[in-house]
Amino acid sequence: MVFPSDLEISRSAVLQPLTEVAAGVGIDEQLLEPYGRTAAKVSLDAIDHLADRPRAKYVVVTAITPTPLGEGKTTTTVGLGQAFGQLSLPGMVAVRQPSMGPTFGIKGGAAGGGYAQVAPMEALNLHLTGDMHAVTAAHNLLAAMVDNHLHKGNALGLDPHAVSWRRVIDVNDRDLRQIVSGLGGRADGSPRQTGFDITAASEVMAILALCTSLQDLRARLGRIVVGYDYDGQPVTAEMLRAAGAMCVILRDAIKPNLMQTVEQTPVLVHCGPFGNIAHGNSSIVADRIGIRAADYLVTEAGFGADMGAERFFNIKCRASGLTPDAAVVVATVRGLKAHSGKYTVVAGRPLPEAMLEESPDDVRAGAENLRRQIANVRRHGVTPVVAVNAFPTDHDSEQRAILHVAAEEGVRAAVSTHFTEGGKGAIELAEAVIDACDEPSGFDLLYPDELPLVDKIDTVARQIYGADGIDVSPTAARQLETYERNGFGSLPVCIAKTHLSLSADPALKGAPSGWRLPVREVRASAGAGFVYPICGEMRTMPGLSSSPAAERIDIDANGEVVGLS
Ligand code: ADP
Ligand code: MG
Repeated sequence: MVFPSDLEISRSAVLQPLTEVAAGVGIDEQLLEPYGRTAAKVSLDAIDHLADRPRAKYVVVTAITPTPLGEGKTTTTVGLGQAFGQLSLPGMVAVRQPSMGPTFGIKGGAAGGGYAQVAPMEALNLHLTGDMHAVTAAHNLLAAMVDNHLHKGNALGLDPHAVSWRRVIDVNDRDLRQIVSGLGGRADGSPRQTGFDITAASEVMAILALCTSLQDLRARLGRIVVGYDYDGQPVTAEMLRAAGAMCVILRDAIKPNLMQTVEQTPVLVHCGPFGNIAHGNSSIVADRIGIRAADYLVTEAGFGADMGAERFFNIKCRASGLTPDAAVVVATVRGLKAHSGKYTVVAGRPLPEAMLEESPDDVRAGAENLRRQIANVRRHGVTPVVAVNAFPTDHDSEQRAILHVAAEEGVRAAVSTHFTEGGKGAIELAEAVIDACDEPSGFDLLYPDELPLVDKIDTVARQIYGADGIDVSPTAARQLETYERNGFGSLPVCIAKTHLSLSADPALKGAPSGWRLPVREVRASAGAGFVYPICGEMRTMPGLSSSPAAERIDIDANGEVVGLS
């Protein structure tokens, strides 16, 4: 039998009215604002309405350092949520909203996969309730107000060469990376070199994901630094009087979107900040609702545990005050084989043939990566659980090799077949997670607010990445000093490095040692509330490949979407 496509599975799912999905986790109909039949916004009043209910167990799904193909965190997050349903326990899932750039680029959709999906996948992947566009509009309003300020006399003395606020759009469009704006005549603005980033890379997206209320959103928007004046002092969105209007544009986007899985598990879909220059986690407000609605709230953190989970702990949990009870570390046979260093996996291409042959030795050779990511979770006082996300190409001996590594580390582990079997396939994983959550949580942040920024970077580099130390360029040192002086020294750090290695070099697999983290430049997202050191080439506007998914996405004779995978 040919295994059905994600789109076929999504389309054949029997969905419940959202009012019933919500009622199952105590969310009243009057708190829902329906957007069509398949998604509804949840009013932030839900936070107060649910305040007296017991707090859910809070589970974050993370992974080994991924191959470019992804190891199945979203799929496992959804499958685990569905497994709670199979056990008749109220579970809830909180995930990011996919960006349309990659949907039409390489990914073709990001709703999970197989029988562990958020449905309908067309809705999730395309526009949903318009939050991405609201972020784009709010971001670009500020950009227009910056240029207008320069054009209309520049009362704040903003240095046009020191404007860092660019524009955003939710399309992979490499030709917009570097542009000159303001061409034409005197009435058409002042020519300035600038460019576009993808909407997911907007600081507004990071702010929306990290704010705890509408008033907090308003305050954070005001703190956005758009550039510096001729004296080197920061110029903010508040000083440009733009933050109020931006907040108004975002007044609906701040509400999480309720959807459901193919097994009717409630899912809050909200925000999609980048995973390298931003923290790569879904929103705090969604988790503030989920944490009082369900018994188990399962959320995903982007990339490997050194990236998304480290930021989940040290940026998101620091801001929300919520403490996790367990962390699922997703590992795959193919991922650990890639960490043996013997194979090269390229995005958009099939796996190398030799990698599909049975070889538990290759899995063991790559297992150092899993061991370190387990240690990274434990470093924060959180109990890890290893999920072996089963692929059809796996051999039993290879899956057993992963379970053996987990046993050696003293970590609960389960093989999970949610992709082919839905929630039933993740029951063993769910039981391991339930046991892990029953252990007392000793959650601890990696560093205190008051540690100087440079020491925060050094702490993450040594303790999480396994570096011997950091090499700070003269530019970065100057910037760090300026940020400390401007009062940003107490912010957490979000280290922008490759997600394809624990190190700063994407080619180094496993758990590299004997290397130092090069800090080239440091930027601040003062509104979002973190400082981000740049350690490697960071693309904030992807391009399309020679065969983008957009070429295969179409409308068929029945008016249905085809080509989303
Ligand atoms: P991540 O969230 O870690 O990036 P995803 O859950 O999005 O990973 O999965 C990455 C890709 O791999 C998706 O196309 C998904 O459908 C596919 N995938 C994930 N798990 C499995 C599996 N067990 N079997 C087959 N394909 C899978
Ligand atoms: Mg994912």
